[in-house]
Amino acid sequence: MSSSNVPSTNTWSNCIGQQTCHPKYLLYPTSLQDLIDAIRLGRKENLKVRAVGSGHSFSDVAPTDDILLDPHGMNQVLKVDASLLRDPLKESSLFAVQSGITIRELNLALDKAGKALINIGAYDGQTLAGAISTGTHGKGITLGPMASSVRSLVVVSETGDVYQYEPSNGITDQDKFATDAAKAGMTLKQDDDFFQSVVVCMGCMGLIYSYIIEVVPTYFLIENRTVSSWENVKTELAMTKGGLLPEVLTYNRHYEVDINPYAIKGVHHCIVQTTNEVKTTHASGSRGFKNWLAGLLASWPVAEDVLVDILNEFPKASPWIVGNALSTLVDVNYIDKSYVVLNIGKVNNIKGLAMELSFPVDENLVNSIDNLFAIFADEASAKRWYLAGPIALRFVAPSQAYLAPQEGRPTCMVELDMIYGVMTGGDLLKSVTQRVISGNPAVRVHWGLDLDTVTGRQVQMRYGKYSKWLAVYRQLNSTGMFNSVFTDRLGISVDPNSNTAKLT
Ligand SMILES: Cc1cc2nc3c(=O)[nH]c(=O)nc-3n(C[C@H](O)[C@H](O)[C@H](O)COP(=O)(O)OP(=O)(O)OC[C@H]3O[C@@H](n4cnc5c(N)ncnc54)[C@H](O)[C@@H]3O)c2cc1C
Repeated sequence: MSSSNVPSTNTWSNCIGQQTCHPKYLLYPTSLQDLIDAIRLGRKENLKVRAVGSGHSFSDVAPTDDILLDPHGMNQVLKVDASLLRDPLKESSLFAVQSGITIRELNLALDKAGKALINIGAYDGQTLAGAISTGTHGKGITLGPMASSVRSLVVVSETGDVYQYEPSNGITDQDKFATDAAKAGMTLKQDDDFFQSVVVCMGCMGLIYSYIIEVVPTYFLIENRTVSSWENVKTELAMTKGGLLPEVLTYNRHYEVDINPYAIKGVHHCIVQTTNEVKTTHASGSRGFKNWLAGLLASWPVAEDVLVDILNEFPKASPWIVGNALSTLVDVNYIDKSYVVLNIGKVNNIKGLAMELSFPVDENLVNSIDNLFAIFADEASAKRWYLAGPIALRFVAPSQAYLAPQEGRPTCMVELDMIYGVMTGGDLLKSVTQRVISGNPAVRVHWGLDLDTVTGRQVQMRYGKYSKWLAVYRQLNSTGMFNSVFTDRLGISVDPNSNTAKLT
């Protein structure tokens, strides 16, 4: 492991530079032993330890001023040992990797093996551990967040012990594991409470070394993006009388709506995206602009700071600028491999900022979205604060992970996107989020796409399994080693003076 260990000169910041910290030690682990050594260092110097991913969270889930690990060097594909599986025939649908692999690297490694992730989010720069740990999701009402494909994960605990966590009916055979020489010193813990807590835990329960995830054979998707309006779409999103999910969600593998938050002449223009599996082995068609920011830059071919200046000077122009950007997204029958179609990437020369809210898909959903638009209209007329970007609705299957924003319910994830740098942007996102949360106890906030607004009390009220998660957290962070500004914010930091765990 290499380290940069000159105190106070280390600086880490996230991808847009709005979260920063000055870790005493900035470490670059490449192996399981490096993670164990980092924990030992933390114990020896009484420092807190935290791994970061690619720094693509806008919230405070990653920073620490003590020991920070950048795990991008832990990006190897590992071998699934079929001889340890309860059902050795499952081997071909499993893939083992170190946790610091990026989604991009993972997609390529899988593709080479004729396989693919079941689903991905809209971008591939995150590390696998970073994405899974915050409940990162893609779209598709039958497809859970990325955490749903995890079958097993190896974690170094606050004592330096190594645990392999799986659900109670996990993939590994307990007896075979116990007698395997390579697993000596490791503990297999097959326990639903532990597994469903650790899998989405925002770095608070240990250092994740590796995952075994479920994968599928390579598949192709066909994408269509058409112009519509929220006023049309919402009739299709109303729940059916029998309480069944809307057909647009169940007929399409992926369904997404990107909406202008402001009505122009009474209409909220939007783009409806459907993506479905198609039996082919060839890419065809093209989509033009991958995402609204790319479309925006094409419509306004000026430097990022000039565009931001325009939006700061003329905030009322936002609805038109966003409308133009959305209209560039239209495509017809664009076909490619799943991970190519689903990745809408990011634009190098412009930064985005986002918050994301999780709503249950139920009979209140359409009203909740209408209410969101009313809040945006109110913020615009009262304060001249405008969202310089669209709102994206993505639909996700329920998750079993206790703190996944999609836990226990079909979910509509509502992303509030904007260009970073608009002066009132952060305040607008925070204000809207707090207004939505205070008026709707069912709404949760994405752990990574938050601007540090959510409190412990709000989390407690919104997650039915929070007390179970906390019970596991208190066992796995009993010394406070994984405390951070994030656990301080939630009011769950553990008093280090009650340190009882023994270093092995
Ligand atoms: C351009 C962009 C696109 C995005 N698209 C989506 C999307 O489509 N869907 C969606 O849901 N979200 C999306 N997000 C949010 C993003 O996926 C999450 O914030 C994710 O957590 C970021 O992953 P990361 O690798 O950057 O991890 P970080 O943000 O660096 O870290 C996230 C958390 O993971 C923990 N962690 C990382 N590695 C380890 C480890 N080895 N052991 C223990 N803990 C660890 C960290 O401590 C931290 O708590 C997007 C963000 C951006 C900037």
